[in-house]
This record gives sequence, structure tokens and C-alpha cells, in this order.
Amino acid sequence: MKNPNIVILGAGYGGIMTAVNLQKKLGVNDANITLVNKHSYHYQTTWLHENAAGTLHHDRTRIPIKDVIDTSKINFVQDTVISIDPDAKKVKLEDSELEYDYLVIGLGFEAETFGIEGLKENAFTIQNINSARLIRQHIEYNFAKYNNERDKKQERLNLVVGGAGFTGIEFVGELANRVPELCKEYDIPRENVRIINVEAAPTALPGFDPELVEYAMNSLEARGVEFKIGAMIKEVTPDSLVFEKDEQREEIETNTVVWAAGIRGNPIVENAGFETNRARVKVREDLRVNEYDDVFVVGDCALIINEETDRPFPPTAQIAIQMAEHTAENLKKLVNGDDHLEGFTPHIQGTVASLGNKDAIGVVFDDKKLFGWSATAMKKLIDNRYLMKLGGVSMLLKKGKLNPFG
Ligand code: FAD
Ligand code: NAD
Repeated sequence: MKNPNIVILGAGYGGIMTAVNLQKKLGVNDANITLVNKHSYHYQTTWLHENAAGTLHHDRTRIPIKDVIDTSKINFVQDTVISIDPDAKKVKLEDSELEYDYLVIGLGFEAETFGIEGLKENAFTIQNINSARLIRQHIEYNFAKYNNERDKKQERLNLVVGGAGFTGIEFVGELANRVPELCKEYDIPRENVRIINVEAAPTALPGFDPELVEYAMNSLEARGVEFKIGAMIKEVTPDSLVFEKDEQREEIETNTVVWAAGIRGNPIVENAGFETNRARVKVREDLRVNEYDDVFVVGDCALIINEETDRPFPPTAQIAIQMAEHTAENLKKLVNGDDHLEGFTPHIQGTVASLGNKDAIGVVFDDKKLFGWSATAMKKLIDNRYLMKLGGVSMLLKKGKLNPFG
């Protein structure tokens, strides 16, 4: 029998970790493995808020794919996926077409804009290296421009972040640290700059431990972040953001709206005809798509239900990595002719969120609360552990955050 073609789409946490695990589990002659990604690099999505604020250069976040894959076992194709035809078992790329016996979809997330007027056209999103770099440059340009205009424009210095979920909170934490540096560089008094976080729910970080939410808000407010809580964003224009709070409409003049208020899966999975919810495929226990025994979905494109709460698990890197490890093991079984695949159960080790590089909050090992230096150290430990898994000690030394407290 010919070797099966395994095609992996996307080199985010889900895709690259499937590839890295497969190259350890399979021999050169067991399967033809192809990894497809838009860029020549993998990036750590969990650091993009730092790149967007300008507190960490994006070259720390991205890793050349050829540095982590064994090219004798995996064929890397740099190309953009256009569509998937699961009946014909084909994937259309911008420059070519691939046929597969087994497909792993790890195409990640996109911003969910909920049809809010002007959002797509006028807001930025923290999505990938390109979008993060654009935000950094846009903010810096507005600071630079401010003192070059006779009529000073406050909208250049009002930085508005939509959503106080984990992405929004982590991003304002970085901005709070970055703004004093920008003020110094561009001769702008700190009190002229506003960082405003607008959240629709009655609290920041809805659903998270209230004591830690309070800690986070105090830490951020002490560094000059303003919160608008219970404030639903309704419209974004090139120089303003409109929200509704207590049935009143309010407008903030701003040239910078960063939308961090929700995500969905990649539209390619929707267009493939799979049953989806916000472009996420509700997969079977073994992470395969209903009706397609040869298609696995990992990461943010997959929707899995937490039976304890009867709600979907939140899409996280933590789960994407575990899904990848699991899928590689199941693929090994299939390649070896065993079609009794294992079901996937995520092991949630905790949630830790940074509030800038020197403060953080988290809950680990079920109910242990962390904040301050211990949470900061834990966050770095989690990031460093991932780098070890991805590329061993040399990757850790090259890209790791080796100072645990700063
Ligand atoms: P992604 O990481 O989005 O990767 C998708 C890959 O597919 C990318 O390489 C992309 O280039 C590629 N791709 C996309 N479309 C195409 C195409 N058409 N053709 C070819 N290639 C394509 N989770 C945590 O667990 N802990 C955290 O601390 C944490 N922090 C976060 C901080 C931020 C700022 C953000 C935005 C998210 C954070 N998350 C965190 C969530 C986590 O990043 C995601 O759940 C995770 O990235 C999902 O992994 P993925 O592999 O599904 O997708
Ligand atoms: P999210 O969906 O978790 O949070 C979005 C927030 O935006 C919510 O609080 C929501 O109430 C608010 N919102 C929605 N519409 C709004 C509107 N019109 N106006 C104002 N506010 C509005 O999205 P996220 O924060 O981008 O997180 C996405 C995923 O990534 C989640 O699963 C999250 O757990 C994960 N993540 C994890 C970490 C971490 O573990 N440190 C960090 C970032 C993201």
C-alpha cells in the first residue's frame, strides 16, 4: 500500500505541534507529511499583544518553521489555503492544489465583529504579526504627529481597546507600560494620553475569579488605564468610538480603536461545508469532523464542549497544543492500520494573564490563585515550557523569557 498523504493546514500552535509530534512518532517511510502555512514562520499568538503595544519586538515572537521541522520528514509549503473540498479530499492553495488521505485543519481564529458599524473598516485587531506590527506603528505615528500639528488633536492620544476579556486586559497592561516611554520619546505629558478599555459585560474578565479581577483593575488603573464597564460598543468611525452605557450614547474621539472583543474560527472551515458555529467545527470526541473520518480539526477552529458546564471550552493555546499532541498519536494509529482512535479530554492546568511584564493574575491547579510576581513567573514558565516542547533547549535559549520576574 502506498504511504498515506497527511496534510496539515496552518502552523499555529495546533498545526506546528501536530507536525512536531508526528515527526517524532513516524519514520521517514511511514507517511508523506505536508505542512502548509501562509508565512515562512510560526508565531506565538500569545505574545502578539506585546508586539502590538511595542513592548516586545515581533522577531522575538516569530520562529522560522524550518528551525523546528525535520525537512527529511515534513515537506513545508509556504502558501495560502483558499478552500477545502472534503468530498474530493483536496485542498486548494493560492499557487497549487494538494490531495490528502488525512487532513489536519489548524487555521486559527479571526476577529468576530458582530456586524458593528464601521468596525471592520476602522478598528485594528491583534491577529497575527502583520496586524500587531501595524498597531505598534500606528500608535507611534500618532504620537509623532501630535507635536507637528498647530491644532493639537486629542484623538491621536486616546487609545481605545474594545473588550476587557483576556486579550483586552493583557493589551492594556502592555500599553500602560509602553505609553510613558512613548511620552518621553515624543515630548508629550503623560496626563495628555488616555488608555480606555470598554467592556459590555458588568465586569472586566467576565466569569473569572472576582478577587483577581479586582486586583487586575487596581493594578491597571494605578498605571492610568480607564475602564468603561457595562458599555456596549456600537460604532467605530475613523476618528471616534461610540458606546452605549445605562441607555446613554457616549462618544470618545480617537484614531486608535483596537478590537479585542471576541473571536471566531477561520471562514475556510465554514466554506468547506462542515457544520459550524461561528466558523468553529463541533468535532467528535477524537477531534474528527462528523461524516469525515479523514479530517481532524485542532485549535481555535475546533469546538469542544465541557460536559461539566455544558458550554464550549474557551479557545486557547493550551488546548490547541494538547489537541495537536492527541491528533498526532491518533494519526500514528491510523498510519499503522489501527482505527480505534482515542477520545480527547483537555487537561486545563490553569489560566494566567499578564498585566504588563511585571504583573499578572492567574488560577492554577484548579483553585490556587496567583497574582503579582508569582503569577508573572508562572506565565513565563508556561511560555518557556511551550518553547521547550517546540524546539528543545536551543529554542528556549533563543526565544525564551528567561528572567522570571521582569
Ligand atoms: P493560530 O495560533 O491562530 O494559528 C493559525 C495559523 O494558521 C497561523 O500560523 C496562520 O498564519 C495560519 N493561517 C491562517 N489562515 C491561513 C491560510 N488561509 N492559509 C495558510 N495559513 C493560514 N491562549 C492561552 O492558552 N494562553 C494565553 O496566554 C493566551 N494569550 C493570548 C494572547 C493574545 C493576544 C491572543 C490574541 C490570544 C491568546 N490566547 C492564549 C489564545 C491562543 O493564542 C489561541 O487559542 C491559539 O493561538 C490558537 O491556536 P491555533 O493553532 O488554532 O491558531
Ligand atoms: P473573549 O471573547 O474572551 O472576550 C471578549 C470580551 O469583549 C468579553 O468580555 C465581551 O463581553 C466583550 N465584548 C463583546 N462585545 C462587546 C461590545 N460590543 N462592546 C464592548 N465589549 C464587548 O475574547 P478574547 O479576550 O479575545 O479571548 C479569546 C480567547 O483567547 C479566549 O478563549 C481567551 O480565554 C483566550 N485568551 C487567553 C489568554 C490567557 O489565558 N492569558 C489571553 C488572551 C486570550
